[in-house]
Amino acid sequence: MKIYQFPCREDNYGVILSDPDSGFVASIDAPELEPIADVLEDKRLKLTHILTTHHHGDHVAANAALKAQHGCEIIGPAKEESKIPGIDRTADHGDVLDVQSHRIEVIGTPGHTLGQIAYYFPLKGVVFAADALFALGCGRIFEGDAAMMQTALQRLAALPDDTKIYAGHEYTLSNARFALSVDPTNESLLKRAREIELLRDEQKPTLPTTLTLEKQTNPFLRCSDPAIRANLGMETATDLEVFTELRSRKDRF
Ligand SMILES: [Zn+2]
Repeated sequence: MKIYQFPCREDNYGVILSDPDSGFVASIDAPELEPIADVLEDKRLKLTHILTTHHHGDHVAANAALKAQHGCEIIGPAKEESKIPGIDRTADHGDVLDVQSHRIEVIGTPGHTLGQIAYYFPLKGVVFAADALFALGCGRIFEGDAAMMQTALQRLAALPDDTKIYAGHEYTLSNARFALSVDPTNESLLKRAREIELLRDEQKPTLPTTLTLEKQTNPFLRCSDPAIRANLGMETATDLEVFTELRSRKDRF
């Protein structure tokens, strides 16, 4: 299965999956028609599916146009069915989809929105986490609460460590600055932050990332880390209290 990742809108990523053997061609979300249509045309692909993660406009903007052009099936979160343009089929946490012989496990990742889902391809070792888990960050909590978002991140963190993670946005540079503010002595983070600056200077993507790397450097997956806790003055707090504090500091950063 080939994976094409490309910028859309201001800071979104579009992703097209293509498996020549089965004819499976899927767009992970549909942030913007033009760049998606360009990739499909360039690679001579006919879209068979859109895998929608959540209802925000910058993730569903091109659903209707792509469906009109390609007749693709749109799969999306059951809890947001009424808000997903063109949705044909719903999926919820724990579902296992068999889409043109591809096994896809659906992981509920609420918090950013109440119904957001991630799509995990266990045989390929890749997960599309949209606006739940970012490189060095996590999604803003718009509809849920911190406990929900922490559960979502724990579900993703339970995947194998070598899992490749694709996310909905290129936020990594600003996430790195925040991460350094709460975890300034983490050698892995310092090294990664330098690499990220170089990549972004050349306008190269910092995604996909891996779970291994996130566990070493993403503060939102490191709530039990003694150095982060000491920095926050929260040595005896619960992980959820630390997570809540990190998220609210990031909102004000
Ligand atoms: Zn969103």
